Order: sequence, then C-alpha cells, then structure tokens
Amino acid sequence: MQKPNEQILVVEDDAQIRNFVCFALKQNGFAYTPASTAQDALTQLVTGQFDLMLLDLGLPDFDGMEVIAKVRSWSEIPILVISARDQDTEKAAALDAGADDYLTKPFSATELMARIRVSLRHLYQAGFMKMQSSACVRGLKIDFDKHLVYLDEHELHITPMEYSLLALFFHNIGKVLTTKSIIRNIYGSGYGTDTQALRALMAGLRRKIEANPAVPKYILTEIGVGYRLVGE
Ligand code: CA
Repeated sequence: MQKPNEQILVVEDDAQIRNFVCFALKQNGFAYTPASTAQDALTQLVTGQFDLMLLDLGLPDFDGMEVIAKVRSWSEIPILVISARDQDTEKAAALDAGADDYLTKPFSATELMARIRVSLRHLYQAGFMKMQSSACVRGLKIDFDKHLVYLDEHELHITPMEYSLLALFFHNIGKVLTTKSIIRNIYGSGYGTDTQALRALMAGLRRKIEANPAVPKYILTEIGVGYRLVGE
C-alpha cells in the first residue's frame, strides 16, 4: 500500500516530460522534488529524504549511468530509469549498474504509476520476503523451506537448478532481472556471460510451469535485457 506523501526525486532535463511526470505524481498522491541536472539530483539526494528516484539517462552535465553508479555506492534507494534510448544494451547496463527498473519514453501516467508502485513495493518486499516460508503468484507456489514448487496445488518435479532460478524470481516479483545478473546469481560470477545454459534452464522450467511455454504468463522475456516474473 502507498503511504501518504512518499517522496519522489524526479531527475529529468526536458521540462515538458518533467512537468508531465510531476503532475502525474501529484495526481496520485506522491510528493516530489524536481531536478534537471545530475549535479542537482546528487545534491538533493544528499540533503533530502527520498523513497524513490526517477532518473533520465540523458542529462546535460553527466550521464545518468554515472549517477546510478555514484548513488549505489552509498544508497539503496529504488532507481527507476526513464530513457528515450530504447537500445536494449543500455537498459541492461542501467539495471546491472544498480537501477531497479526502466521506462522507455514515451510512457503513460498509468504505466509510470504501475512501475513506481512495483519499485516501492520491492523496498518493503526485500526484507519481508526473507522472513516468508512460501510465496504464491496466480497458482504457482514456492516453498522456500522445503524447496518445493506447486502449480494449482500439484507438486512439480523440478531440478535443484530450476528451483534456484524460480526462487530468484520469487524474491524479485515484478522486477526485470538482467541475463547477466541471473547468471551471476545461479551459476556464480566465474560463469561469465554464457547465456546458452540459462536459456536451456529457462526452457526446461517453462515446460513445467507454463501451460504454453511459447506464450509464457509467469516468467516473461524482456527482449535483449532479461526476464521478469509477473506478479498478481
Ligand atoms: Ca534528457
């Protein structure tokens, strides 16, 4: 649930987009502080109290990527990237640098609010999920204590690797995970960026959890970026 007056830092140099975003935030009961440069954003972050940062990657003074790296060296604040650059590599790079999610311009107010709510929820969920012994998304249930998975109450026979992969997604419901971060989590950092094994693992898991693996409804492919477990 949204607390009253959650404070959002809006970092965007394009006045038209900044005003659109600020207006949408106001309409939805959020408090906000606008910033139009990276330097301004960093100053605001150090001096203020924020629950989330919306960050444009193309800023006049220095690159949004640098802002992410700097902020991540001292803060866990959710960062939602807003970018005109729809190149997949940049989305993945922003996520790998520590951003939580991204929106590609142009986006609607509805999309913006949905993404903000998901990102804010992760902040609370991350701590909460560690205490949970199970989680369920639309009939797909995972038991973290027993390492078991159920689909509509029926236990699935999954391998330990498939379990690890699914558990990672359940700890990040609604969040896009880059291929690189999944490989690092599942196989360890020495595995490099070999995506073949992950693709095979994902295909095997989908055959077990999806009614039609070609049209998945649980774990969706974000083309060129990674995968996302869709929540309720
Ligand atoms: Ca810009």
